[in-house]
Amino acid sequence: MTRLLIMGPPGSGKGTQASLVAAKFDIPAISTGDIFRANVSEGTPLGVEAHKYMSAGEYVPDSVTNDMVRDRLSQPDAKSGFLLDGYPRTVSQVDFLDKILSEQHASIDRVIELVVDVEEVVSRLLRRAAEEGRPDDTEEVIRHRIELYFEQTEPLTAVYDARDLHVRVDGTGSVEDVAARIAEAIDA
Ligand code: AMP
Repeated sequence: MTRLLIMGPPGSGKGTQASLVAAKFDIPAISTGDIFRANVSEGTPLGVEAHKYMSAGEYVPDSVTNDMVRDRLSQPDAKSGFLLDGYPRTVSQVDFLDKILSEQHASIDRVIELVVDVEEVVSRLLRRAAEEGRPDDTEEVIRHRIELYFEQTEPLTAVYDARDLHVRVDGTGSVEDVAARIAEAIDA
């Protein structure tokens, strides 16, 4: 059983690393950002609601996000383990996840925090926005998303630190180098 969380500012490469780690442990990588984006492109009511916040670089309200995560974690493929990417992002999401897991008599095994240089992250995101033609990714929105991360999400590492679950991993360097550091941190 492997239940993992990966955290890191936008542009830290956590999505790429999440897929690699999930493949290694044969568990689903569950990205709330990906689920929102899929709903936005399908034009579902959830997508329409989420897009209002995503386009401004704001967090989608917990009332929307939490129920979506509960549904996803109740699916059979998540029963024996999962890697959550981009959730929890707020204190109330931590509480909600604790509740879901305690109902399942389960718990988190490790919380990986990818640590990167903020200015490097901004230029990486701006490059990606230009390459992939994401009109929502203006510099202002990108900076706001990063600020929000440090204001609301980064403090959650202290919560998991107190539970002895949090490990910091240097997120700079090649995808392979970072993946190797994460593997080491999970085994430690
Ligand atoms: P990400 O791909 O993880 O950077 O997520 C993209 C966007 O989706 C974020 O900027 C938020 O607007 C929204 N989002 C993703 N996960 C969450 C979450 N756990 N809580 C609130 N909003 C989220």
